[in-house]
Amino acid sequence: MQNFTDIDDKMINRANEEGTTVKELADRMIEEYFHDADALNIKRADHHPRATENIDEIIELISLLEEKGFAYVTSDGVYFEIAKDPEYGKLSGKRIEDLEAGASERVASNEDKKSPLDFSLWKFKKEGEPAWPSPWGEGRPGWHIECSAMSRANLGDTIDLHAGGVDLVFPHHENEIAQSENATGKPFVRYWMHNGFINIDKEKMSKSKGNFFLVRELAKIYPYQVIRFFMLQAHYRMPINFEKDSLDAAVASWNRMTTCVNNLLYVAKTAPEKAADQEAMQAATQLKEAITEAEEAWDRGLSDDLNTADAIAAIFDLVRAANIAACVPGIPKGALMAAYDKLISILDVLGLNPTESESSIPADIMDLVDRRQEAKKVRDFNLADSLRDEITAAGYKVEDTPQGTKVTKA
Ligand SMILES: [Zn+2]
Repeated sequence: MQNFTDIDDKMINRANEEGTTVKELADRMIEEYFHDADALNIKRADHHPRATENIDEIIELISLLEEKGFAYVTSDGVYFEIAKDPEYGKLSGKRIEDLEAGASERVASNEDKKSPLDFSLWKFKKEGEPAWPSPWGEGRPGWHIECSAMSRANLGDTIDLHAGGVDLVFPHHENEIAQSENATGKPFVRYWMHNGFINIDKEKMSKSKGNFFLVRELAKIYPYQVIRFFMLQAHYRMPINFEKDSLDAAVASWNRMTTCVNNLLYVAKTAPEKAADQEAMQAATQLKEAITEAEEAWDRGLSDDLNTADAIAAIFDLVRAANIAACVPGIPKGALMAAYDKLISILDVLGLNPTESESSIPADIMDLVDRRQEAKKVRDFNLADSLRDEITAAGYKVEDTPQGTKVTKA
């Protein structure tokens, strides 16, 4: 399940600025998100609930908390009372006393709150804001309660894995635990997986610093698959640094991978069924050993908190061994194809496909392909045809398949 917050202060402000509704803004943003997520081959979840479609579940959860004495009503909404939860802070390791000392220095936004740390479960309606009826009055959900309610509604009281950015550990995920566990009396999450920040040229990416870009802008220079490969080269808990040199290095590494796979297939076509001589037989044995070793190292990497960095290093060990083996005359077809199959199957686990030719297609050609797609979408077939001619003239072939558009070097 992957849930969307489709209502909050920022969205309300932006919708007002743009003269649109929060719903229209949310629809557009979600569509944009799927555009890039699909292109990065991020599989869609079974459920994509939205906060505004789960208001009943949210109200139910707040009611449960109120019944059990964890929630109280103030002039501007309903709050969760942190002092009632002795386990508060267990995810982040923060202590309530330390947090309160820090929070009280800031100006309290609401005088009725029992503690500055108490967080909002339900916000009463303000002028010009979307609102829903509730037992406490018209309003909208607080941010944290949405996740707890949608998780419970779709997946039950306890889930195995909860992912999210490391910046959400406190207070967001801490608050989710407090709400869910105190409402249901059961553990909320068995394992938390928090991903590191995205840095741009070693500085944290943020809108305020202006070093902000969208993946589709990056994809004009680097194919989506290379971006995916690049990101998987770092362990997910580590910060990931986007800079030209590292991305260019990822292109070179990815090209080594695709070259190796294509070469294995090419050499295997004319390779004998049986090893031609002693040397070829020995090369085949060595390659088979390299496959087993790579598979074991790959498995160790992924079993160690999904260490994709180590797993990818294991794949490159196999690439090296395969390149050496493919140069030995008379090496049997079976050994080459075993290496080929292994590379394809383990890369598939990472959502990567080295036989896809797009990764070696230059950005300006991909741009023409995208424009042709757009033209076809709006049924401008003349434009689509002339774009196809341009692609062909540049030495590339474009095909429409059930899996989507395929581009290859002609
Ligand atoms: Zn959340």
